[in-house]
Amino acid sequence: MAEGKTAIVTGGSRGIGREVSLRLAALGYDIAIVYVGDENEAADTVRDCEAKGVKAKAYICNVASFEETKNTVAEIRKDFGNIEALVNNAGITRDGLIAFMKEEDWDNVLSVNLKGAFNMIRHTAALFIRNKGGRIVNISSVSGLMGNAGQANYSASKAGIVGLTKATARELAPKGITCNAVAPGFIRTDMTKNITEDNSELLRTIPLGRMGDVSDVASAVVFLLTSPYITGEVLRVDGGIAM
Ligand code: NAP
Repeated sequence: MAEGKTAIVTGGSRGIGREVSLRLAALGYDIAIVYVGDENEAADTVRDCEAKGVKAKAYICNVASFEETKNTVAEIRKDFGNIEALVNNAGITRDGLIAFMKEEDWDNVLSVNLKGAFNMIRHTAALFIRNKGGRIVNISSVSGLMGNAGQANYSASKAGIVGLTKATARELAPKGITCNAVAPGFIRTDMTKNITEDNSELLRTIPLGRMGDVSDVASAVVFLLTSPYITGEVLRVDGGIAM
């Protein structure tokens, strides 16, 4: 159990991040959720975490902003006292073919998905080093492992997460800090709401023949967050897509 420990979950208001927040709350972690816009969903998740008997609070903060993330991490420290775990889950897609991709779509996806994770690690690392411990899990994607047509920006950001994870793992291992990544395939959330079971073309690419559930990803995140001797790992949760 993790009573008295605090976990930050970016993008914790909805989808995969919400499920991760609830699972960590069930383990006894106090939960700090970082979200960008949907106040009601964030409030719902906070309430559901609190119902598990832990402290929870939501912070509106664009993870792409170095300053906002710095201030938010400071606020979380003030509110919770310490931080033991960080889950970099916030992410967006702005899909398009590379020949037509808008510069702003490239920049936004890289800023949120990759720089966002850097920002959060950057502002928590000194505390983890001082604590001689800390657990980081970053959410990558099979798109980052294999590349996905129509997702050059997203695939690049998620491949970047793999490099960021491994470099961070090597750098912080001597301080007792672990850093791992989870690479989901197609998981049912708002992000994939346009994919239906009738998209048989896409479903044929999944050896297990179906999309995954948020609980499949949350189980992997919890496993890595509670594993003291695994670091620099990228764990696929993809029904076999990228094997
Ligand atoms: P989702 O349902 O669209 O939720 C995205 C979450 O990220 C929301 O909580 C959102 O906050 C937050 N967010 C977005 N931009 C943000 C920003 N700039 N600053 C702070 N928070 C921000 O997404 P999901 O499907 O759960 O995906 C979660 C992660 O898994 C993402 O990194 C995604 O790339 C990755 N992933 C998903 C799949 C999939 O099939 N779903 C597959 C592979 C990887 P608001 O509610 O305030 O908007």
